Amino acid sequence: MLQQTQVATVLRYFPNWMRRFPSVRALADAPEADVLHAWQGLGYYSRARRLHAGARFLLERHAGELPRTHAALLELPGIGAYSAGAIASIAFGEKKPLVDGNVVRVLARHFGLRGDPGKGPLRRALWQLAGELVPEDRPGDFNQALMELGATVCTPRAAACGACPLRATCVARRDGLVEKLPELPARPKPTRVRAVAVAVRDGKRVVLVRLPASAPRWAGLWTFPHVELEPNETRAAAAERAVHGALGVKAHIGVELARIEHTITRFRIALELVEATLPGNVLRGALRAEHVVRALPSELSRHAMPAPHRKLAVWLLANGGAS
Ligand code: SF4
Repeated sequence: MLQQTQVATVLRYFPNWMRRFPSVRALADAPEADVLHAWQGLGYYSRARRLHAGARFLLERHAGELPRTHAALLELPGIGAYSAGAIASIAFGEKKPLVDGNVVRVLARHFGLRGDPGKGPLRRALWQLAGELVPEDRPGDFNQALMELGATVCTPRAAACGACPLRATCVARRDGLVEKLPELPARPKPTRVRAVAVAVRDGKRVVLVRLPASAPRWAGLWTFPHVELEPNETRAAAAERAVHGALGVKAHIGVELARIEHTITRFRIALELVEATLPGNVLRGALRAEHVVRALPSELSRHAMPAPHRKLAVWLLANGGAS
């Protein structure tokens, strides 16, 4: 949960998650819909899917126990070099390194390493260096100390070099490069995207569709039918395309209900909610599909929805449903 997410946010989700899935078996046995529902709001849903897959893997291969070696940990779904290094060294005392953003900063500055730390040569050099530095004795404490130094002393801006235990040997401090290292690439400006979501009405109920496992984003989650607008496409045309893509039928598109902005990775998305109706017989047919449900606004929260669609669902509830 803590990958790409702040502790304060995780604290709102972790206790509930542990209540719902108090053991590896409980998580492994849960349907994916329940796992995604418990995760909703945290974003980066691939983490929830990998935790779920990891729990099943543990049950099948390791009798529900977490393996205790770096090599075996690396075989688990969702566990990469960083997580394997952290678990092996901190939990099991194995002499293995880890490299995260904080460690990158400390090492790049202390050793005066130039280049983009996300790219091949320096990336490999950082892992190699971290591997050489980590001691046999208390490797977990060493790794945590390095991360903590980066988080609290050798910070991205205004590093507290005067209070740093590495100051006597630090190349960046000696050469006046503290502000320049590590040489991270400039973040691209977010791309602006316009999208439309459709509240297809059936009386007081609205239609949600579950995205297929192959969907590039939000796979397995429930959303209002939605698409991004093509260049020069009108909102109504996009809304029709969204409904046709999700339900295979033509809709009567109505008025705009709400508009929100949200950011996903490097996209800034303006999402407009419009209402729509379908001829009754068409709607009944479309609703038979397994990936389609209709629900009252007060029932929408039972379904795992990504944050922007949940915001639209909250709007519908607050405004008495589609008008
Ligand atoms: S001396 Fe300054 S730049 Fe060097 S490691 Fe310490 S805090 Fe970072």
